[in-house]
Amino acid sequence: MSGIRPTGILHLGSYFGALQNYVKLQHEYNCYFMVADLHSLTTHPDTQMLRQSVLHVVSEYLACGLDPEKATLYCQSAVFETSELYFYLNTLAYKGELEKTTTFKDKARAQPQNINAALLTYPVLQAADILLHRAKYVPVGKDQEQHLEMARNFAARFNHRYGEIFPEPIAFNFGQELVKVPSLDGAGKMSKSENQNATIYLSDSDELIRKKIKKAKTDEGPKVPDTPMPDYIENIFQLLKLTGALELYDKFKADYNTCMIRYGDMKKELAEEMIRFIAPIREKAEAIRNDEGYLRDILEAGAAKAGKSAQATMELVRKAVGVKYF
Ligand code: ADP
Repeated sequence: MSGIRPTGILHLGSYFGALQNYVKLQHEYNCYFMVADLHSLTTHPDTQMLRQSVLHVVSEYLACGLDPEKATLYCQSAVFETSELYFYLNTLAYKGELEKTTTFKDKARAQPQNINAALLTYPVLQAADILLHRAKYVPVGKDQEQHLEMARNFAARFNHRYGEIFPEPIAFNFGQELVKVPSLDGAGKMSKSENQNATIYLSDSDELIRKKIKKAKTDEGPKVPDTPMPDYIENIFQLLKLTGALELYDKFKADYNTCMIRYGDMKKELAEEMIRFIAPIREKAEAIRNDEGYLRDILEAGAAKAGKSAQATMELVRKAVGVKYF
C-alpha cells in the first residue's frame, strides 16, 4: 500500500522513490495505491485545482505502468473508513511524538499561519491508510522512513491494547536502501511543491529538461586524482545512475577520478538520457488525461475494491475496540 499527494506534478523523486516500486510490486502482491487527496488539505486547503490534480496523478500512475487490473487504484477520500480508523489511531498517538516529527516541524515552519491539527496528525492518517488494508509493505522514498516507524508504533499499540489485528508495516524497496532523489541545485530533494527549477517533472518538455540540467550546480572539477565528490556533483552522478545509463556513469566517473571531467558534456548526456526516459511517460499521460471517462471508471472500480478491503478491516477493528455492541 502506498500513495502520493495531488499537490503538484510528479517528478523523478516520485518515480524512483515510489512509483517504480509500485509497478514492480503489482506483479507479486495484492496492492493498493491511492491518490492522497485528504493529506493534501493539510498544506493545500484551496480545492479549486484538486480534481485536476487528482486526475493528473492517476494519469501518471497509469503512464508509468500501473495496471488497474492488477493493482487497486483509488482516491483516498472515496474510502470513508480511512477517517474512522484515523480516529481510533489518534487515541493512541501522543502530542509529544507528533510534534517531534521532522515533516511536521518543516511544514509548520513553512506555513506558520496554518499549523492545523491535521498537519500535526499527518502520520496518523498515513498509518490509517496503510493499516486499513492491513498492509505489510509500503513502497516509499527515504523521506518517509520516520512516518513508517510511527505507523509501526501505532499498530503495535493498537494490537497491545485491543488484540492482534494489524501487521507492523515496513518501508519497502526490494531489500535495497530507500531512495532519495536529490534536487539539481544541490540543496535538498526533488519535490512537487518546492524547488521547481531544480526538480525534473514527468511532464517537463524536452527543452525544459535540457535547460534545467544545464543549470545544475557544478564547479571547475577536481584538481587532484580521486578527490571525494562534493554533494552537488555526487547528485548529478546519482541521477545518471538512476536513469540506467551505467556505461556513461562509469565513463564520467573515471574522467572525474583522473581530473578529466567536463561537466558540460556530462550534463548534455544526462539531459538526453532523461529525455529518453521521460518523453514516453509524458506523452502517454497526456493521452490518458484526455479520456476522463476511462479515469472515472478506474477510480470508481478501485474505490469499490478498496472499500471492501476497508470494511473487512473495520469490522475487526470495531469488534476489537469494543464499540460493536450487538
Ligand atoms: P512531495 O514531497 O513531492 O510532495 P509526496 O510527499 O507526495 O511528495 O511523496 C510521494 C512519494 O514519493 C513518497 O513515497 C516519497 O517518499 C516519494 N518521494 C518524493 N520525493 C522524493 C525524492 N526526492 N526522492 C525519493 N522519493 C521521493
